[in-house]
Amino acid sequence: MDPVIVVGGGISGVACARALTEGGVDVRLLDRGRRLGGRMAVRTVDGHPVDTGASYFTVSDDRFAAVVGEWKARGLAREWTDTFEVYDDGERGEPKEGSMRWASPRGLRCLVEDLAEGVPTEQSDVQAVTRDEHTGTLAVDGRPADTVVLAMPDPQAHRLLDPSITSRSQLSGEYAPTLALLAGWERRSWHEGFDGAFVNGDASLTWVADDGARRGDGAPVLVAHATEELAQQHLADPEGAEPAMLEALTDLLGIRDRPTWSRVQRWLFAHPTETHEDAFHLGDDGVGFCGDSWSEKPRVEAAWLSGTLLGQAIVERRG
Ligand SMILES: Cc1cc2nc3c(=O)[nH]c(=O)nc-3n(C[C@H](O)[C@H](O)[C@H](O)COP(=O)(O)OP(=O)(O)OC[C@H]3O[C@@H](n4cnc5c(N)ncnc54)[C@H](O)[C@@H]3O)c2cc1C
Repeated sequence: MDPVIVVGGGISGVACARALTEGGVDVRLLDRGRRLGGRMAVRTVDGHPVDTGASYFTVSDDRFAAVVGEWKARGLAREWTDTFEVYDDGERGEPKEGSMRWASPRGLRCLVEDLAEGVPTEQSDVQAVTRDEHTGTLAVDGRPADTVVLAMPDPQAHRLLDPSITSRSQLSGEYAPTLALLAGWERRSWHEGFDGAFVNGDASLTWVADDGARRGDGAPVLVAHATEELAQQHLADPEGAEPAMLEALTDLLGIRDRPTWSRVQRWLFAHPTETHEDAFHLGDDGVGFCGDSWSEKPRVEAAWLSGTLLGQAIVERRG
Protein backbone atom coordinates (compact mmCIF):
# COMPACT_ATOMS: atom_id res chain seq x y z
CA MET A 1 0.00 0.00 0.00
CA ASP A 2 1.21 3.55 -0.70
CA PRO A 3 2.17 5.60 2.35
CA VAL A 4 0.08 8.28 3.99
CA ILE A 5 1.65 11.64 3.13
CA VAL A 6 1.22 14.40 5.69
CA VAL A 7 2.03 17.87 4.32
CA GLY A 8 2.73 20.44 7.04
CA GLY A 9 5.13 20.08 9.94
CA GLY A 10 3.44 22.40 12.43
CA ILE A 11 2.11 20.81 15.60
CA SER A 12 -1.07 19.48 13.93
CA GLY A 13 0.76 17.70 11.10
CA VAL A 14 3.41 16.29 13.40
CA ALA A 15 0.76 15.09 15.88
CA CYS A 16 -1.08 13.42 12.99
CA ALA A 17 2.08 11.76 11.64
CA ARG A 18 2.95 10.59 15.13
CA ALA A 19 -0.48 9.03 15.70
CA LEU A 20 -0.09 7.26 12.33
CA THR A 21 3.40 5.99 13.20
CA GLU A 22 2.17 4.76 16.57
CA GLY A 23 -0.69 3.00 14.74
CA GLY A 24 1.82 1.13 12.55
CA VAL A 25 1.02 3.11 9.37
CA ASP A 26 3.72 3.91 6.82
CA VAL A 27 3.84 7.72 6.79
CA ARG A 28 5.94 10.52 5.25
CA LEU A 29 5.88 14.00 6.76
CA LEU A 30 6.73 16.84 4.36
CA ASP A 31 7.37 20.45 5.34
CA ARG A 32 8.88 23.26 3.32
CA GLY A 33 10.72 24.82 6.26
CA ARG A 34 14.33 24.04 7.17
CA ARG A 35 13.00 23.17 10.64
CA LEU A 36 9.65 21.85 11.79
CA GLY A 37 7.34 23.90 14.01
CA GLY A 38 5.23 26.10 11.70
CA ARG A 39 3.74 28.92 13.72
CA MET A 40 5.46 27.61 16.87
CA ALA A 41 8.47 29.40 15.48
CA VAL A 42 11.81 30.34 16.97
CA ARG A 43 14.53 32.62 15.62
CA THR A 44 17.97 32.84 17.15
CA VAL A 45 18.95 36.51 17.46
CA ASP A 46 22.08 37.74 19.23
CA GLY A 47 22.57 34.24 20.64
CA HIS A 48 19.05 34.06 22.14
CA PRO A 49 16.27 31.77 20.91
CA VAL A 50 13.21 34.03 20.55
CA ASP A 51 9.64 32.77 20.16
CA THR A 52 8.38 34.70 17.15
CA GLY A 53 5.02 32.96 16.58
CA ALA A 54 2.85 31.41 19.30
CA SER A 55 3.54 33.10 22.64
CA TYR A 56 2.61 30.22 24.91
CA PHE A 57 0.11 27.39 25.12
CA THR A 58 -2.59 26.35 27.54
CA VAL A 59 -3.66 22.86 28.54
CA SER A 60 -7.20 21.65 29.20
CA ASP A 61 -7.54 18.27 27.46
CA ASP A 62 -6.34 15.23 29.47
CA ARG A 63 -4.69 13.67 26.40
CA PHE A 64 -2.66 16.80 25.71
CA ALA A 65 -1.93 17.15 29.44
CA ALA A 66 -0.25 13.71 29.36
CA VAL A 67 2.07 14.83 26.53
CA VAL A 68 2.82 18.14 28.26
CA GLY A 69 3.51 16.30 31.53
CA GLU A 70 6.24 14.30 29.77
CA TRP A 71 7.72 17.48 28.26
CA LYS A 72 7.75 19.04 31.71
CA ALA A 73 9.45 16.00 33.26
CA ARG A 74 12.15 16.19 30.57
CA GLY A 75 12.67 19.94 30.99
CA LEU A 76 11.28 20.76 27.53
CA ALA A 77 8.22 22.68 28.75
CA ARG A 78 7.71 24.92 31.75
CA GLU A 79 4.82 26.58 33.54
CA TRP A 80 5.30 30.28 32.87
CA THR A 81 2.49 32.33 34.46
CA ASP A 82 -1.26 32.54 34.88
CA THR A 83 -1.38 36.35 35.14
CA PHE A 84 -0.73 39.12 32.64
CA GLU A 85 -0.89 42.87 32.94
CA VAL A 86 -3.57 44.80 31.07
CA TYR A 87 -3.12 48.24 29.50
CA ASP A 88 -6.19 50.23 28.45
CA ASP A 89 -5.46 53.34 26.36
CA GLY A 90 -1.90 53.40 27.74
CA GLU A 91 -2.97 53.09 31.40
CA ARG A 92 -1.93 50.04 33.39
CA GLY A 93 -5.03 48.46 34.95
CA GLU A 94 -5.75 45.42 37.11
CA PRO A 95 -3.75 42.32 36.09
CA LYS A 96 -5.79 39.52 34.53
CA GLU A 97 -5.59 36.01 35.93
CA GLY A 98 -6.38 33.05 33.70
CA SER A 99 -5.23 29.52 33.03
CA MET A 100 -1.57 28.50 33.32
CA ARG A 101 0.46 29.54 30.28
CA TRP A 102 3.19 27.13 29.25
CA ALA A 103 6.43 27.98 27.50
CA SER A 104 9.60 26.19 26.52
CA PRO A 105 13.14 27.13 27.66
CA ARG A 106 14.54 26.52 24.16
CA GLY A 107 11.49 27.92 22.37
CA LEU A 108 8.19 26.27 21.45
CA ARG A 109 9.50 24.81 18.20
CA CYS A 110 11.54 22.22 20.11
CA LEU A 111 8.28 20.65 21.33
CA VAL A 112 7.18 20.02 17.75
CA GLU A 113 10.61 18.62 16.90
CA ASP A 114 10.36 16.33 19.93
CA LEU A 115 6.95 15.01 18.78
CA ALA A 116 8.47 14.28 15.37
CA GLU A 117 11.13 11.92 16.77
CA GLY A 118 10.90 8.64 14.85
CA VAL A 119 8.61 10.06 12.11
CA PRO A 120 10.14 9.91 8.58
CA THR A 121 10.41 13.58 7.62
CA GLU A 122 11.53 15.37 4.45
CA GLN A 123 11.97 19.01 3.53
CA SER A 124 9.78 19.68 0.51
CA ASP A 125 7.85 22.71 -0.72
CA VAL A 126 4.79 20.90 -2.04
CA GLN A 127 3.19 22.38 -5.16
CA ALA A 128 0.21 20.18 -5.98
CA VAL A 129 -2.01 17.37 -4.75
CA THR A 130 -3.72 15.58 -7.63
CA ARG A 131 -6.07 12.64 -8.15
CA ASP A 132 -5.95 10.30 -11.14
CA GLU A 133 -9.41 10.45 -12.68
CA HIS A 134 -9.34 6.77 -13.78
CA THR A 135 -7.76 5.01 -10.78
CA GLY A 136 -8.62 7.56 -8.09
CA THR A 137 -5.00 7.41 -6.86
CA LEU A 138 -3.84 10.52 -5.00
CA ALA A 139 -0.39 11.98 -5.58
CA VAL A 140 1.67 14.68 -3.89
CA ASP A 141 3.88 16.32 -6.53
CA GLY A 142 3.58 13.06 -8.47
CA ARG A 143 4.31 10.73 -5.50
CA PRO A 144 1.46 8.26 -4.99
CA ALA A 145 -0.21 8.33 -1.59
CA ASP A 146 -2.87 6.16 -0.01
CA THR A 147 -4.16 9.16 1.96
CA VAL A 148 -3.05 12.80 1.88
CA VAL A 149 -3.26 15.01 4.95
CA LEU A 150 -2.92 18.78 4.61
CA ALA A 151 -2.05 20.24 8.02
CA MET A 152 -1.87 23.97 7.40
CA PRO A 153 -4.09 27.08 7.23
CA ASP A 154 -7.08 26.59 4.91
CA PRO A 155 -5.96 29.09 2.22
CA GLN A 156 -2.55 27.36 1.94
CA ALA A 157 -4.19 23.92 1.63
CA HIS A 158 -6.78 25.16 -0.87
CA ARG A 159 -4.05 26.39 -3.20
CA LEU A 160 -2.43 22.92 -3.36
CA LEU A 161 -5.52 20.85 -4.16
CA ASP A 162 -6.61 20.06 -7.67
CA PRO A 163 -10.17 21.45 -8.14
CA SER A 164 -11.40 17.92 -9.01
CA ILE A 165 -10.73 16.77 -5.43
CA THR A 166 -14.10 17.01 -3.69
CA SER A 167 -12.72 17.55 -0.17
CA ARG A 168 -11.43 20.92 -1.38
CA SER A 169 -14.91 22.39 -0.86
CA GLN A 170 -14.50 21.95 2.91
CA LEU A 171 -11.75 24.57 3.01
CA SER A 172 -13.62 27.82 3.39
CA GLY A 173 -11.71 29.39 6.26
CA GLU A 174 -10.03 32.80 6.09
CA TYR A 175 -7.01 33.81 8.17
CA ALA A 176 -5.91 37.20 9.55
CA PRO A 177 -2.30 38.39 9.46
CA THR A 178 -0.13 39.87 12.19
CA LEU A 179 3.38 41.21 12.63
CA ALA A 180 5.72 40.33 15.50
CA LEU A 181 8.30 42.88 16.62
CA LEU A 182 11.33 41.28 18.30
CA ALA A 183 13.65 43.60 20.20
CA GLY A 184 16.64 43.06 22.49
CA TRP A 185 18.41 45.44 24.90
CA GLU A 186 21.73 45.54 26.71
CA ARG A 187 19.88 45.20 30.00
CA ARG A 188 16.32 45.12 31.36
CA SER A 189 14.96 48.55 32.20
CA TRP A 190 11.26 47.71 32.39
CA HIS A 191 9.57 47.00 35.71
CA GLU A 192 10.35 43.94 37.84
CA GLY A 193 8.02 40.98 37.55
CA PHE A 194 6.79 41.83 34.03
CA ASP A 195 5.73 38.70 32.10
CA GLY A 196 3.40 39.99 29.44
CA ALA A 197 0.55 42.39 28.79
CA PHE A 198 -2.68 42.58 26.85
CA VAL A 199 -2.78 45.98 25.17
CA ASN A 200 -6.21 47.47 24.46
CA GLY A 201 -7.03 50.64 22.57
CA ASP A 202 -3.59 51.05 20.98
CA ALA A 203 -3.25 51.75 17.25
CA SER A 204 -0.12 49.60 16.92
CA LEU A 205 0.00 46.81 19.53
CA THR A 206 -2.26 44.14 21.00
CA TRP A 207 0.17 42.12 23.11
CA VAL A 208 3.68 42.20 24.59
CA ALA A 209 5.62 39.26 26.03
CA ASP A 210 8.85 39.21 27.98
CA ASP A 211 10.70 36.51 26.08
CA GLY A 212 13.38 36.03 28.72
CA ALA A 213 10.77 35.63 31.46
CA ARG A 214 8.78 33.05 29.54
CA ARG A 215 11.79 30.94 28.64
CA GLY A 216 13.23 31.43 32.13
CA ASP A 217 16.72 32.70 31.19
CA GLY A 218 16.00 36.39 31.83
CA ALA A 219 17.22 37.52 28.38
CA PRO A 220 16.40 41.24 27.91
CA VAL A 221 14.15 40.55 24.92
CA LEU A 222 10.54 41.63 24.26
CA VAL A 223 8.17 40.41 21.56
CA ALA A 224 5.16 42.58 20.62
CA HIS A 225 2.32 41.76 18.25
CA ALA A 226 0.75 44.30 15.91
CA THR A 227 -2.92 45.16 15.56
CA GLU A 228 -4.54 43.61 12.50
CA GLU A 229 -4.96 47.11 11.01
CA LEU A 230 -1.25 47.89 11.24
CA ALA A 231 -0.36 44.43 9.89
CA GLN A 232 -2.73 44.91 6.93
CA GLN A 233 -1.09 48.26 6.12
CA HIS A 234 2.40 46.74 6.10
CA LEU A 235 1.94 43.31 4.53
CA ALA A 236 4.25 44.28 1.66
CA ASP A 237 6.82 46.07 3.85
CA PRO A 238 6.69 44.60 7.38
CA GLU A 239 9.81 46.52 8.47
CA GLY A 240 7.89 49.73 7.69
CA ALA A 241 5.77 49.00 10.81
CA GLU A 242 8.83 48.80 13.06
CA PRO A 243 9.09 52.49 14.13
CA ALA A 244 5.43 52.68 15.20
CA MET A 245 5.58 49.33 17.02
CA LEU A 246 8.84 50.17 18.79
CA GLU A 247 7.60 53.57 19.89
CA ALA A 248 4.36 52.08 21.25
CA LEU A 249 6.31 49.37 23.08
CA THR A 250 8.86 51.67 24.71
CA ASP A 251 6.15 54.22 25.67
CA LEU A 252 4.03 51.48 27.21
CA LEU A 253 6.80 50.08 29.42
CA GLY A 254 8.65 53.36 30.00
CA ILE A 255 11.85 52.16 28.30
CA ARG A 256 14.29 54.97 27.48
CA ASP A 257 17.24 53.00 25.99
CA ARG A 258 17.34 52.13 22.31
CA PRO A 259 17.26 48.38 21.66
CA THR A 260 20.56 46.88 20.51
CA TRP A 261 18.68 45.00 17.81
CA SER A 262 15.13 44.75 16.50
CA ARG A 263 13.31 43.16 13.62
CA VAL A 264 9.79 42.42 12.41
CA GLN A 265 8.43 39.06 11.35
CA ARG A 266 5.33 38.88 9.17
CA TRP A 267 2.66 36.21 9.70
CA LEU A 268 0.32 36.16 6.71
CA PHE A 269 -1.84 33.41 8.17
CA ALA A 270 -1.64 34.06 11.90
CA HIS A 271 -5.14 33.22 13.15
CA PRO A 272 -8.29 31.84 11.51
CA THR A 273 -11.15 34.33 11.42
CA GLU A 274 -13.70 31.51 11.09
CA THR A 275 -13.44 27.95 12.31
CA HIS A 276 -14.87 24.52 11.49
CA GLU A 277 -17.30 22.70 13.76
CA ASP A 278 -15.59 19.32 13.35
CA ALA A 279 -12.18 18.50 14.85
CA PHE A 280 -10.82 17.40 11.43
CA HIS A 281 -11.93 16.34 7.96
CA LEU A 282 -11.37 12.92 6.40
CA GLY A 283 -13.05 12.60 3.01
CA ASP A 284 -14.05 9.50 1.04
CA ASP A 285 -11.56 10.75 -1.56
CA GLY A 286 -8.70 10.01 0.87
CA VAL A 287 -7.91 13.63 1.67
CA GLY A 288 -7.73 14.82 5.28
CA PHE A 289 -7.40 18.24 6.88
CA CYS A 290 -6.33 19.18 10.38
CA GLY A 291 -4.97 22.25 12.12
CA ASP A 292 -6.02 25.06 14.39
CA SER A 293 -9.01 26.12 12.30
CA TRP A 294 -10.62 22.74 13.18
CA SER A 295 -11.67 23.97 16.62
CA GLU A 296 -13.67 26.87 18.01
CA LYS A 297 -10.56 27.76 20.06
CA PRO A 298 -7.84 27.90 17.40
CA ARG A 299 -4.73 27.48 19.50
CA VAL A 300 -1.73 25.18 19.91
CA GLU A 301 -3.66 22.62 21.98
CA ALA A 302 -6.51 22.49 19.47
CA ALA A 303 -4.07 21.97 16.59
CA TRP A 304 -2.41 19.07 18.46
CA LEU A 305 -5.79 17.48 19.17
CA SER A 306 -7.02 17.94 15.60
CA GLY A 307 -3.93 16.24 14.18
CA THR A 308 -3.96 13.42 16.72
CA LEU A 309 -7.67 12.64 16.13
CA LEU A 310 -7.23 12.69 12.35
CA GLY A 311 -4.23 10.34 12.59
CA GLN A 312 -6.23 7.94 14.76
CA ALA A 313 -9.19 8.09 12.34
CA ILE A 314 -6.92 7.17 9.41
CA VAL A 315 -5.44 4.25 11.39
CA GLU A 316 -8.97 3.03 12.08
CA ARG A 317 -10.08 3.45 8.46
CA ARG A 318 -7.13 1.42 7.18
CA GLY A 319 -8.04 -1.36 9.67
C1 LIG B 1 2.00 35.56 16.09
C2 LIG B 1 1.22 34.38 16.58
C3 LIG B 1 0.90 34.28 17.94
C4 LIG B 1 0.23 33.15 18.42
N1 LIG B 1 0.01 33.03 19.77
C5 LIG B 1 -0.53 31.89 20.26
C6 LIG B 1 -0.60 31.68 21.66
O1 LIG B 1 -0.16 32.50 22.45
N2 LIG B 1 -1.16 30.51 22.11
C7 LIG B 1 -1.62 29.56 21.25
O2 LIG B 1 -2.07 28.51 21.71
N3 LIG B 1 -1.54 29.72 19.91
C8 LIG B 1 -1.01 30.86 19.40
N4 LIG B 1 -0.90 31.05 18.05
C9 LIG B 1 -1.51 30.05 17.16
C10 LIG B 1 -0.68 28.78 17.07
O3 LIG B 1 0.65 29.10 16.70
C11 LIG B 1 -1.32 27.86 16.05
O4 LIG B 1 -2.66 27.61 16.44
C12 LIG B 1 -0.63 26.51 15.86
O5 LIG B 1 0.76 26.62 15.93
C13 LIG B 1 -1.11 25.97 14.51
O6 LIG B 1 -0.43 24.78 14.15
P1 LIG B 1 -0.80 24.09 12.77
O7 LIG B 1 -0.05 22.82 12.71
O8 LIG B 1 -2.30 24.03 12.63
O9 LIG B 1 -0.34 25.09 11.62
P2 LIG B 1 1.15 25.70 11.27
O10 LIG B 1 1.95 25.81 12.52
O11 LIG B 1 0.85 26.92 10.49
O12 LIG B 1 1.79 24.57 10.37
C14 LIG B 1 1.61 24.54 8.97
C15 LIG B 1 2.87 23.98 8.36
O13 LIG B 1 2.62 23.73 6.98
C16 LIG B 1 3.80 24.02 6.25
N5 LIG B 1 3.43 24.26 4.86
C17 LIG B 1 2.54 25.17 4.37
N6 LIG B 1 2.47 25.09 3.04
C18 LIG B 1 3.33 24.09 2.65
C19 LIG B 1 3.70 23.54 1.40
N7 LIG B 1 3.16 23.98 0.24
N8 LIG B 1 4.60 22.51 1.38
C20 LIG B 1 5.15 22.07 2.53
N9 LIG B 1 4.84 22.56 3.75
C21 LIG B 1 3.93 23.56 3.81
C22 LIG B 1 4.38 25.24 6.93
O14 LIG B 1 5.77 25.34 6.67
C23 LIG B 1 4.07 24.94 8.41
O15 LIG B 1 5.15 24.31 9.05
C24 LIG B 1 -0.21 32.14 17.53
C25 LIG B 1 0.11 32.25 16.18
C26 LIG B 1 0.83 33.34 15.70
C27 LIG B 1 1.21 33.42 14.26
